[in-house]
Amino acid sequence: MSTAAQSSKKLAGRQSQLVGNKRPMVIAGPCSAESEAQMLQTALGLKKVKGVSVFRAGIWKPRTRPGSFQGVGNVGLEWLRTVKQETGLHTACEVANATQAEQALKQDVDILLIGAHTTVNPFLVQEIADALRGVQVAVLVKNPVNPDLALWLGALERLHNSGITDLGAMHRGFSTLDSAPYRNHPKWEHALELRQQLPDLAMYCDASHIAGRRSLLRPVSQRALDLGYDGLMVESHHNPAAALSDAQQQIMPQELHMLLQALKQQHTPA
Ligand code: PEP
Ligand code: MN
Repeated sequence: MSTAAQSSKKLAGRQSQLVGNKRPMVIAGPCSAESEAQMLQTALGLKKVKGVSVFRAGIWKPRTRPGSFQGVGNVGLEWLRTVKQETGLHTACEVANATQAEQALKQDVDILLIGAHTTVNPFLVQEIADALRGVQVAVLVKNPVNPDLALWLGALERLHNSGITDLGAMHRGFSTLDSAPYRNHPKWEHALELRQQLPDLAMYCDASHIAGRRSLLRPVSQRALDLGYDGLMVESHHNPAAALSDAQQQIMPQELHMLLQALKQQHTPA
């Protein structure tokens, strides 16, 4: 029996259909898992933030240049498990190959994220989809780095064909030469084309990787909600200035609380 099939057995009875179940679903947590203390301190702060139901942390980081912090690896999954036990939050992390997917399943990670740098590679997506065949786990597929709708659709189809039913898309913006003022240009109309093609698919907005800076988080998040997205992902760290990756875009749990409150107020009918 493959590792993934064993995990499937072990996972029987977990809550299914996480994706699209709660609107808006807010996923928050640090860009990278850095230490157990950082994870717990951030998670305990996020647990108090109304609306946050999933804790994310990057375990393996696909960095653009060598020499950058590339993640702590498997030990971070143990910290993620501790966070789940201590806070009751669901957990999420990016997986970029079949081995990482199997490791994450062993630690009962609830949502696997397929990152933008993986969605561009059909071989890797297929390898992950094969590892997940027969496994009950939620998967969110980020758009590819470049605005190529077919690649995004193709990755979703590969996972769907592997029997993943708890499936959603995550819009994280696109790398273009004219992305300013964003880190990744949202090209909302391009992302909405995916929704036109797959109207029943839950769609989340990774406001942090579109914005790239704290000041843009609110308008990006608001736009996503106004467009009817099912949820948001916002990177949060108990001490953003000390973050080992994406320091400029992370916010403290209390700041996330204020952001969500502000979005909610704008949505409260007069
Ligand atoms: C991340 O979520 O921290 C990340 C690296 O995202 P992306 O795949 O969107 O670049
Ligand atoms: Mn990040």
